Amino acid sequence: MSNKSQEILGIYKAKVMPTYTPSIVLSSGKGITVRDADGRSYYDFTSGIGVQSVGYGNKKVVEAIQAQAAALTHCSNLFVNEPATLLAEKLVELSGLGGKVFFCNSGAEANEAAIKLARKWGAANGGRYEIVTFRQGFHGRTLATVAATAQAWCQDGYDPLPVGFAYADFNDIESVKAAIGDKTVAIMLEAVQGEGGVMPATDEFIKGVRALCDEKNLLMIVDEVQAGFGRTGTWFAWQGYDVKPDLFTLAKALGGGLPMGALVSNAALADVLTAPSHASTFGGNPVSAAAGLAAIDVIESEGLLENAVKVGELLREALQGFVDKYDQLLAVRGKGLMLGLVVKCEAKEIVEALKSQGLLALTAGANVVRFLPPLTLAEDDLEDVIDMISDALDCTFGE
Ligand SMILES: *Cc1c(COP(=O)(O)O)cnc(C)c1O
Repeated sequence: MSNKSQEILGIYKAKVMPTYTPSIVLSSGKGITVRDADGRSYYDFTSGIGVQSVGYGNKKVVEAIQAQAAALTHCSNLFVNEPATLLAEKLVELSGLGGKVFFCNSGAEANEAAIKLARKWGAANGGRYEIVTFRQGFHGRTLATVAATAQAWCQDGYDPLPVGFAYADFNDIESVKAAIGDKTVAIMLEAVQGEGGVMPATDEFIKGVRALCDEKNLLMIVDEVQAGFGRTGTWFAWQGYDVKPDLFTLAKALGGGLPMGALVSNAALADVLTAPSHASTFGGNPVSAAAGLAAIDVIESEGLLENAVKVGELLREALQGFVDKYDQLLAVRGKGLMLGLVVKCEAKEIVEALKSQGLLALTAGANVVRFLPPLTLAEDDLEDVIDMISDALDCTFGE
């Protein structure tokens, strides 16, 4: 590591709170690659945690950001801005739910909005407020979304947490039935659990949740913050199942690389959140919205949903080949370009080995290596990447 990276990391460690443990300083990105402060290049299969879905420095997105930045960077919701309005129209159209959108700035805030909407609706529908969420799920870092995230590493030390959540086991409909009580108003889940280990819901389970919601007059909320916006090969991961949620949330890739979150409702819930009961100063930021609209245009015009399915399948097959070769690898799971490699060892160890080869990946829990490459990943890029994975596994386990 040269002086530049060392210097920045030194300041970082001294002055930035240690909530993260990064070791690389990034300076630029292009397509599926990023470059560090010393000029070393990496394939980025983290996409900035599922954000850079159309690749770094995408021309259409950059031009949209530049034009909007020159015109109007912010105006608050005391006024209407065109990009956010058109993005709302587009999201409603893509969802097919006929509802409306609330914009905010992050995934946690989008889920907070969903929780607040569910409570407001529940207050008027039988005085109900409790939301069933899932073990190994992840919904964000605000206090309410931490309470919704049934994982000790997220909750420990933050008592007292907001009340109003009950936990069930993912892909186990009987445990959901057991968690539902008099005060239950909603069930909130990820269609593919991300942080919790890249675990897709089974078809049967999602349909079971929908049926329970219908039977007991509960809202079905799908957290699409990670799996949504094309990553699994459909615009929203729930569209890969034969169900429709009442509410769903977006963030990560939504703003084309800029911060943006959204809550999308069906028609029946479109006017539950009214002035002045919910708001966000930056929500619907025009630059983020312009970037998001450009990202949608890129996904549509370059056929990136189809690409996520096609290239995702090729990557999955390659990973399955490694599972067949090494006893230390247990399985591949996920959907589209949201893939997890389940390992017997610490996933961190593999992520470090991949980094040494020049491939950036994530962990998801202790034993899953997670791959979230840009959806622009081409078949031609795969050969190089698979060689890197092969070398990293050989280094870790021996040939
Ligand atoms: C990342 C994530 C969140 C939180 O999003 P932030 O923008 O970090 O607040 C919520 N839900 C899921 C499924 C996520 O992956």
